[in-house]
Amino acid sequence: MDHFRRIGQLRRRLTKAGLSGLLVTHLPDLRYLSGFTGSSAALAITRHMARLFTDGRYTTQAAEQVSSAQVQIVSGSPAVAAVEWLAAQPGVELTGFDPSRTTVAELARWKAALPSRLRRGFLSALAAPLVEPLRRVKDEDELTLMIEAALMGCKLFDEILSFIRPGLAEFEVAAEIEHRARLLGAEGMSFETIVASGPRSALPHGLATAARLPRNGFVTLDFGVILKGYCSDMTRTVHLGRPKASERAAYEALLEAQESAVAAVAPGVSCGEVDEAARSVLRRAGLAEAFSHSTGHGVGLEIHESPRIAVDQPAKLFSGMVITIEPGVYLPGRFGIRIEDMVAITRTGGQVLTPAPKALIEL
Ligand code: ZN
Ligand code: ZN
Repeated sequence: MDHFRRIGQLRRRLTKAGLSGLLVTHLPDLRYLSGFTGSSAALAITRHMARLFTDGRYTTQAAEQVSSAQVQIVSGSPAVAAVEWLAAQPGVELTGFDPSRTTVAELARWKAALPSRLRRGFLSALAAPLVEPLRRVKDEDELTLMIEAALMGCKLFDEILSFIRPGLAEFEVAAEIEHRARLLGAEGMSFETIVASGPRSALPHGLATAARLPRNGFVTLDFGVILKGYCSDMTRTVHLGRPKASERAAYEALLEAQESAVAAVAPGVSCGEVDEAARSVLRRAGLAEAFSHSTGHGVGLEIHESPRIAVDQPAKLFSGMVITIEPGVYLPGRFGIRIEDMVAITRTGGQVLTPAPKALIEL
């Protein structure tokens, strides 16, 4: 990962925003810029320098991981130390911070650490995030990791098909997925594994419970693994026993909607257009009301990143972004279905990173 290049790109944005300093406290942003994976740190960036502040637990780790910034070990709050350091740098008059990642209490502590003449004007809430737009577009190294993570998800899905059977508790299925993920080398799961069976499949975020898989009904599996910090995310819905005609019809409509949105993915296309590609298919099938969430989201070091693939979102897709396409149909009291792929935006279209089968599987 070329952390120097990323900090260089960030500096150009910093200058454009009229700032001479930046305080980065959101850990995924900090990891993106420095490679540091510890749980307590702050990164201070000026036009000429970058310095990472962390505590004594991370002396060895920071020395090994961080080359794009100087490292300073502190005994108190790393962010307070970073603010004090920024205030002492010649030429640093205005320092940005991300208000969406800062609590009111933190801001008060930072201000209290400043000399009184700087308390009013030195720290400036960013009007728009500066690191997030960089993270949206993945470089070759990131794409390689994300492809690997996505394929691990597909392998897990393939393996779990022979495990799933009526009578198992949902959490047993989730535990099996997570156990096998670790054996395959995953650092962890991207989020709490969703296993929602029978009428519970109508809950878009049905975390696995003690409910038993039915003899006849859908099971939705939504899960992802983390590889070197990068998240995968996929959903497949399978059917235990023979589906009713209405269930099959809903599944076919959803699959068409999902594939239509995947086909709409290309650089220059707006997120709203991709959302509409899925939504219009479900509208024609009389299932518009049953699709109660957005079509997808960016994914990377965090499971949910920008952009949002949602109704009327004007943001355009760019080559190098990785997004999910995950329309769903939820009929409360009856059943729910969701199909989710990860898609990388290429120069000409979209590349599906999760090629696991999508035709309805009956177990
Ligand atoms: Zn998902
Ligand atoms: Zn997702």
